[in-house]
Amino acid sequence: MNLLEVQNLTVTYGSGPTAVPAVRGVDLTVAAGQQLGIAGESGCGKSTLALALLRLLPPSAHVDGRILLDGEDVLTMRWGRLRAVRWAGASIVFQGAMHSLNAVRRIGEQIAEPLLVHRRATPAAARTLAGELLRSVGLPEGRADSYPHELSGGQRQRVMIAMALACDPALIVADEPTTALDVMIQAQILRLVQQLVTERHIGLVMISHDLAVLADVCDRLAVMYAGRVVEEGPARAVFDAARHPYGQALSAAFPRVGDPASRRAPRGLPGDPPDPAALPTGCAFHPRCAWALEPCAHDDQFLTGNDDHRVACLLADRPQVPPSGRTL
Ligand code: ADP
Ligand code: MG
Repeated sequence: MNLLEVQNLTVTYGSGPTAVPAVRGVDLTVAAGQQLGIAGESGCGKSTLALALLRLLPPSAHVDGRILLDGEDVLTMRWGRLRAVRWAGASIVFQGAMHSLNAVRRIGEQIAEPLLVHRRATPAAARTLAGELLRSVGLPEGRADSYPHELSGGQRQRVMIAMALACDPALIVADEPTTALDVMIQAQILRLVQQLVTERHIGLVMISHDLAVLADVCDRLAVMYAGRVVEEGPARAVFDAARHPYGQALSAAFPRVGDPASRRAPRGLPGDPPDPAALPTGCAFHPRCAWALEPCAHDDQFLTGNDDHRVACLLADRPQVPPSGRTL
């Protein structure tokens, strides 16, 4: 059984004519101890998907489909069970670590709290474990006595990772965990996350707009566009030999890890992703696609191909060079 199975997940914010279909029929799996990267430009539905995994979406979001965590559907879980799962089954690390830490409590207390509440550790045991967790994320144990404002951004992100590890989860969801940090620190933290999940056999869903970063850290990659997964496969195959024109544009845009020049919009890819409230007909990518043919404007595309590398494109098997006169 897979650790995580997302089946035909749809998330729509609001209803009626102003409804925003942010996630539109996503299927994904993560095996125990596997690392899945999710890439895509801003607005493609990555955070909505991450929040849905632990049912953290606002009440305006209508969710459909199934999210099986160890075979149990997160979407139909009772509240008490869900709370237990959020602590012991799966943890989430978000971008703005500063906002998730309590400014007026010491770091050590904040790491120890879930251990006291959810693992019924004694105060002494929780303190010892909090110290060990700090060491495992590369911080001195003495940092337990600091307040969040006394730490750098990178150190705070390390504390967030320690908190995510505290209850020994089977899955960690990390939504752009390093985007706010400088490039060197980003690379260090991502390597740390990878090392920790590998050592502890934890499943990882890592979200970033930077395909190169994900290719470095993950076993598998999924590329999202306009609320859909348009390509999914082994990380190196998706990064080095993407078959969807959007996957190709993203991998061309992020040639190497943390390249500061490529943090802007993907190079060579004009325009922006569509507003989900006004999606183009057919393949949602066709207005930006150098390869688009007439059917792309009216035939919707779904993932096809063998289970190992799937692509949602009419032209997935075309040669890797764009038609003459067009650029990608
Ligand atoms: P990403 O993380 O890939 O940038 P998001 O999941 O944040 O994408 O957003 C996907 C789409 O859903 C965007 O069009 C965004 O404006 C919209 N959206 C996100 N959160 C909400 C919300 N709470 N209410 C309404 N629309 C939202
Ligand atoms: Mg996001």
